[in-house]
Amino acid sequence: MEIKNIKAIRIIDSRGVPTIKTFVETKNSIESASVPSGTSSGDFEALELRDNSKSFFKMDVLKAIKNVNTIINSALKGDFVLDQKEIDNKLIKLDGTSNKSKLGANAILSVSLACAKVAAKELDIPLYLYLSRLNNTKKLKFPTPFLNIINGGLHSGGNFLAFQEFQIIPEKFKSFEDKIKASCEVYNCLKEIISKKLGSSSTNVGYEGGFVPILKKQDEFMALDLIQLAIDKLKYSKEISLGLDCAANSFYNKDSKKYFFDSNSFSSDDLINYYSDLLKTYNIKAIEDPFSETDKSSWKKFTSKFSSKIKIIGDDLLVTNPKFINQAIKNKFCNSLLLKVNQIGTLTESINSFNIAKKANWDVEISHRSGETEDTFIADLAYGLSSEYIKFGAPSRSERTSKYNRLIEIESFL
Ligand code: PEP
Ligand code: MG
Repeated sequence: MEIKNIKAIRIIDSRGVPTIKTFVETKNSIESASVPSGTSSGDFEALELRDNSKSFFKMDVLKAIKNVNTIINSALKGDFVLDQKEIDNKLIKLDGTSNKSKLGANAILSVSLACAKVAAKELDIPLYLYLSRLNNTKKLKFPTPFLNIINGGLHSGGNFLAFQEFQIIPEKFKSFEDKIKASCEVYNCLKEIISKKLGSSSTNVGYEGGFVPILKKQDEFMALDLIQLAIDKLKYSKEISLGLDCAANSFYNKDSKKYFFDSNSFSSDDLINYYSDLLKTYNIKAIEDPFSETDKSSWKKFTSKFSSKIKIIGDDLLVTNPKFINQAIKNKFCNSLLLKVNQIGTLTESINSFNIAKKANWDVEISHRSGETEDTFIADLAYGLSSEYIKFGAPSRSERTSKYNRLIEIESFL
């Protein structure tokens, strides 16, 4: 079960941008893991190492690949692949920086995840079971998905909607498969509604497979109306609620401390009132990143007002980092964690962040990135850790559906 060789290669993500796929080999097994990448990233995410050369418009990852194939390969060769914590600690030490900027979080994460996959293979158990044992999960349960069926913000070109994600939350169905079935029905019903109202070119999709309706002006209410119409038409209004990822960093001006969208400028208090109106009008159960990561007093105000009603989820605010999660728990900035493995850079640290959130009685949503690959690791992670929620995008585009389908497959074979 010792690591014999580690080899990284360059592949492309769902946006046509290069990323890393790393193979870890033992005497009897070989497994690989690929690394996703964000578009609307938080300022304090672990560093994704890019070459800054002409190749791929400065986005190439040859340096990170070289770091895996030389420094990391030499350091981990001979190590026991089941020692996930030791492997990750070694990777962290080998890098030696606070944000993994020497070797690159993309290089480090690819190795960390691939080691877990090889370990599961060596033990001849499914990956989710291996991950559940790593964290001693008592009772495995399937998560509820948040499906991003209208894309806005930086995932859409930003012209028509400022908020990044308009999600459906199919909470009240028995099985995971039923949740996905109902979501697909809403998705396709929405397609028809949008096509009739706005024309078929409005059913083209953004980075995460959600529609990008072409509106005359930015109008977040209209996007929610369209989705609610589809839910009502299918008589799912009791079973399916709504969620948002506002990704407010992307429409916040740090100098004026104002938010700009829907042809208006909003002070922080204006924005809180705007969200109050949204919550009165729609059956919204969760809002992610309602404010910029720097506008912490608004997070606190909003959470003190709405924490008992909805999930207030920190993504760019927390970047899956214990330092920011602990700060947010202490100051009551939000009540749920969005967990993205590449924001922190190793499996062990991701599980640690999960546990910090759970200890504070928070819910956790395990998330993909806008730049994804066909890798399904996070589906196994969500079931293995039994997070309450997941978000893998719309039920469309294979880099998104591969993850939903993996959970359907796990459920089918239980
Ligand atoms: C998000 O903001 O939650 C998201 C998935 O987008 P990105 O990967 O671009 O950060
Ligand atoms: Mg987000």
